[in-house]
Amino acid sequence: MTIDRLLVASRGEIAVRIIRAARELGIRTIQVYSQADADSLAVRLADQAVEIGPPAAARSYLNIEAILSAAQKTGADAVHPGYGFLAENADFAEAVETTGLVFVGPAPATIRLLGDKITAREIAAKAGVATVPGSTGRMDDPQSACAVAEDIGFPVLIKATAGGGGRGIRIANDRTELERLAPQASTEARAAFGDGGIYIEKLIPRARHIEVQVLGDGQRVVHCFERECSLQRRRQKVWEEAPAATLPEDVRQKLCDAAVALAQSIRYRSAGTLEFLYDDETGDFYFLEMNTRIQVEHPVTELVTGIDLVREMIRIARGEPLRLRQGDISLAGHAIECRINAEDPANGFMPAPGVVDDLIIPGGPGVRFDTMLYPGCTIPPFYDSLIGKLIVWDDSRASALHRLERALGELDVSGVKTTKSLHQALVLDDDVRNANVHTRFLEQWLERDRLPPT
Ligand code: ADP
Ligand code: ADP
Ligand code: MG
Repeated sequence: MTIDRLLVASRGEIAVRIIRAARELGIRTIQVYSQADADSLAVRLADQAVEIGPPAAARSYLNIEAILSAAQKTGADAVHPGYGFLAENADFAEAVETTGLVFVGPAPATIRLLGDKITAREIAAKAGVATVPGSTGRMDDPQSACAVAEDIGFPVLIKATAGGGGRGIRIANDRTELERLAPQASTEARAAFGDGGIYIEKLIPRARHIEVQVLGDGQRVVHCFERECSLQRRRQKVWEEAPAATLPEDVRQKLCDAAVALAQSIRYRSAGTLEFLYDDETGDFYFLEMNTRIQVEHPVTELVTGIDLVREMIRIARGEPLRLRQGDISLAGHAIECRINAEDPANGFMPAPGVVDDLIIPGGPGVRFDTMLYPGCTIPPFYDSLIGKLIVWDDSRASALHRLERALGELDVSGVKTTKSLHQALVLDDDVRNANVHTRFLEQWLERDRLPPT
């Protein structure tokens, strides 16, 4: 298969990232955009751009028909979905393939299997990978949910089978809460994800979020080691690192082997990420879910392994066998990513769209800034608030922290409020510096009012 013209079915920084990878492979790019993104950086950088509808995502970036018709009109031969929007929509992947185009991602059937978190847990169990203790199937009836919860012990999480982006998860501390919240969770899941399926998982209270990057070509799977994403707010990642700073070498090996075993068992094709919770007191890790797409935090892996993951994804989609053998992939140094969101940390992280008037992007050794920003650009209010990712690399974690502090100081996005000040406070925090964190660390830290006034 050849790919000469790639349609980018996403927006923001990841669209820019994909355009760059495509251009380096000699592939022309077609950027689709909503009316709110007519002046976006991705539109400016792509070879060609096609408007697909009004600002509301449901009528543009989620409009399968409009995207496929843009592909047809421009003679695209492949589609990259980025992350978010249609990236994990099996119907979209199928429609792309039915139209005769290449989908830069896994087979539609794989997306469908892993998009259902219960099926994903079953696949993990079959591959011999531990999952978080919980229900084995959907828990549509509150009585059986209570029986399972009493068996594994409260508190439990009620999760949406089709959930994602940190949404659709609730805590139930006892039987009464579970009976009250389960039907509510199901109704909300149906509204948000089009599927009311829920299930129960034991709450792991002081866990770290550790995930493994894999690449597969449908035959062979390799891992590119792990990332730690324990600093989260509302179950959304805020700060990510590679490798996981405190992970013992034998656990790292076991975790990466488990990820490969699972991905190999379904003959995974493309880039993917297997997410785990890791309990550093017991050394146990539990599979959470697999994301069948490129992830926001992929650059930290790129910096410590030297692999261009987006480029590899496109090569695999072209039908090329994996060029990498496991023995060729090694870790060097340490990388940290800070998500810069257009939000006001001093005001409950309220989204803060607007016009960027002045802009200074950090640079120098070991600094990368993946962004959709340029001076004078508009950040529309309709989408995710991620506007840039500051990623630093250095030969050790300690020096990467110094470099991060330096680079954050250079970053200047004027005209809109951003989460830069949050990261500046975090980089100086003793627990963060010592990697003494867990998935609820940041929320507890924010409750203690650690944030300096801006
Ligand atoms: P990653 O695991 O790559 O960090 P996230 O879980 O943060 O990914 O999601 C990536 C992006 O996709 C986010 O910007 C988020 O808003 C969006 N996203 C992911 N899943 C969903 C979903 N089910 N509904 C809405 N948005 C989603
Ligand atoms: P999503 O699809 O929304 O990304 P995940 O299952 O990946 O959902 O969970 C997102 C985050 O929620 C995790 O990184 C973790 O912080 C928290 N979480 C999920 N499951 C559990 C659990 N069983 N115990 C404790 N925290 C959890
Ligand atoms: Mg997740």
